[in-house]
Order: sequence, then structure tokens, then C-alpha cells
Amino acid sequence: MVISMNVNDFYRSLGLSEKTIEIGEKYEKELKERFEKLDKVAEYNQMKVIKAMQDNRLSDRHFNGSTGYGYNDDGRETLEAVYASIFHAEDALVRPQITCGTHALALALSANLRPGDELLSPVGKPYDTLEGVIGITPSKGSLAEYGVSYRQVDLLPGGAFDYDGIRAAINEKTKLVTIQRSKGYQTRPTLSVERIGELISFIKSIKPELTVMVDNCYGEFVETIEPTDVGADMCIGSLIKNPGGGLVATGGYIVGKKECIDNCAYRLTSPGLGKEVGATLGMNQSMFQGLFLAPTVVASAIKGAIFAARIYEDLGYPVIPNGTEERYDIIQAITLGSAEKLIAFCGGIQAAAPVDSYVTPEGWAMPGYNDEVIMAAGAFVQGSSIELSADGPIAPPYAVYFQGGLTWYHAKFGILMSLDKILKL
Ligand SMILES: *Cc1c(COP(=O)(O)O)cnc(C)c1O
Repeated sequence: MVISMNVNDFYRSLGLSEKTIEIGEKYEKELKERFEKLDKVAEYNQMKVIKAMQDNRLSDRHFNGSTGYGYNDDGRETLEAVYASIFHAEDALVRPQITCGTHALALALSANLRPGDELLSPVGKPYDTLEGVIGITPSKGSLAEYGVSYRQVDLLPGGAFDYDGIRAAINEKTKLVTIQRSKGYQTRPTLSVERIGELISFIKSIKPELTVMVDNCYGEFVETIEPTDVGADMCIGSLIKNPGGGLVATGGYIVGKKECIDNCAYRLTSPGLGKEVGATLGMNQSMFQGLFLAPTVVASAIKGAIFAARIYEDLGYPVIPNGTEERYDIIQAITLGSAEKLIAFCGGIQAAAPVDSYVTPEGWAMPGYNDEVIMAAGAFVQGSSIELSADGPIAPPYAVYFQGGLTWYHAKFGILMSLDKILKL
């Protein structure tokens, strides 16, 4: 038996053509310096996480889970203290009972708004799932049903903040301002933490007592600072995205001012109970360990996104962000221009997965969407989008959105598999 040490032999045996392998080598070489910069950010964030764990005297007894009411769960309390340290925040709520990012955002909003208050989004339309939460689209249990009104100021063409519009929108009812860091599935640019800081300063100069929250989904550990470092009162995200590091099976987090977090805890559990209850079952260890891995996992995902952007832009496909601009989240969009190519791309991502690699993704009529949607995800955790995943509506302009990759090698392989399938069409 001949044992080859050449990874390209592996790639050939997994079905990649010579041309695809060559393209991969070329762009990986070209991106070496850029990747080194990403590794430096990861190194900084790794130290931030380790220091927070040390400062809070993390110990293996904190990995024990609680059951029932979950009183005196030392692990849960330490996890929340570690999150607060990392985000330089007063307090944190980090729970498996927060079911997803939308739930965490809805919780933060409903906990900190009262009937008669107004919510303001100064960065345009929020993430799709928040439309029902706010009541932009009528929905049972929405903030609108509870007498909370909503105002929105869109970004100016080109993506600048509409400072005049924002000043005019802030009134005596305005109580809470929500800022979405990631573009999500829109075409506006993702906001850097620095820009978020400028916006918060402006808003607080008009009405200092306003509460400002940031939807931090897909942004954690992409930069060396987080929105709470630049004045956000609350910062919110999902544990099956960046901060879970791929290991957390379910959950969400909210970090920020103690008063805001108390409100969230009383809303999540019950008035009077707050943070004191909430069994962690067996989840504490994965929550800590996933957080520990998150900085390097996020760097891997960004490497994959940049690698894909460079390859596809050189092939003539529109990409957002482009291959050279700074990154503030892990999402990459590529406009492929035909249904065939979109299906081939998703097929390649699926074929490169460690889980369910043998299935072929197809479009399906997802509830709430007008067009069929195709999704590729061979993930260890269902729906986890810090794992390599791709999706897009099967309709013009046939854009695919993809993100994640727990390791750079997997992200690279997935992108090369999808490229290979497109080149073979
Ligand atoms: C993913 C995401 C959400 C919602 O998170 P879910 O976990 O899918 O409910 C909200 N905002 C942004 C920007 C996101 O990327």
C-alpha cells in the first residue's frame, strides 16, 4: 500500500478536478498575509476569553449541570460572569432556555419596553424575523399588540447614517433604539463596531437616557472590540452562531447594563424569580468550551468567506462583500445568475460536509417565502450557521448566502467542491 502525504491526492479522490485544485492553491497563496491578520485578531480574542475564564476562576466543578429549578447553579453563574467580562458589561444572561437569536432579541425588546414606549431602528429594516416581533407585519403577541410603537430611519443611499432623520425621529416616547450590526440578508454594508459607536454617541447626545441595544448576530469576535465597548446598553446573539464555537446545541445570550439584564431575566423566567432559576442540564461544559474555541472558529469562517469572494469575483460574479474590503461579520453573498449554478453551489457545500454529505439539497417552499429556497447544511447542530452552510431563494438574481466553517480546511474544501460543481456545468 502506498501512503500519500499529498493533500491534493485526497482532493482528487474526493472528486476535485486539477483546475479547481490549482485555483484553490493560487488564492490561498495570495491571501496568506490577509489570513495572518485574521489570525492576529483571533489571537487577541483568544486571550480575552482565557483572561475572562481565569479572572472568574473557572473550575471543572462549573461543568456540572443542574436540574429542576436550577437554584445555585454555580456553572451558569460563572458562565454569565465570563460573558460579562468578555463584553466588558455589567451583567449577562446566557441560557439554553433562550431558544434562538430571534427569541433573545424579542426578549430584550419586550423586557425593556412598556406600553406607550416607542422603539426606533436608525439603520433601516431589521432582520426578517423581527418584523413579526415588532408588529411591522401583524403578528400574535407582537410589541404593537402591547401598545409599543415603532419608527424606522433608513440608511442614506450609499449606506451613511441619516443623522437629520434620526434626530427628527427621536421624540418623548422613544425609549429604546435597536441597531443591527450585520447586514443579514440585505445588501447594505455591515456596520463596524466603530461606526456603531459613532451612532450611539450621536443618539445619546440627543437623548442620554435612551437604551441602545445591538443585534450582534454573526459579529462576535470578528473584531477585537464589541458593541458594549462603544456604549451599547445591551448586546444580543445566538449560541448556534459565533459565540457557541460550534459546540453549543442551543441557546442565546444578552449582555449589558445590570438593569437591562434584570429586566430580561424577569421576562425570561418570571417576575420575582429572574436569574435565580433555569436548569442547565448538561450544557455548561459545551457553553464554556464553545466560547473558548469561538475566536479561532470565527477566523476560519472569515477566511472561507474571503477565499470565496476572491475566487468568484475574479470569475466575474458580483460578490458582497468584495474580496478586499474589511469584514465585520461572517456572511458572504455571491450572485450566481442562474438556478443551475445556485443548486450546484449548494450541492458542493453539502457534498463537502462531515454530516449528510450523501444527500442532494433541493428547493422547497419554505413557509413565509414567496420563492422556493434551497439550503445546504451538513451540520452537527441542526440549523447551526457557524458551521459551513449556504442558502438562497431559487429566483433571480440567484444569489447564494453562505457562512461558517468550524475549521478553515473544511471551509476551503466546501468552497472548492461548490466551485468544482459550477465549473463542470
Ligand atoms: C440569525 C440572525 C437573527 C436571528 O437569529 P435566529 O437564531 O435565526 O432566530 C437576527 N439577526 C441577525 C442579524 C441574524 O443574523
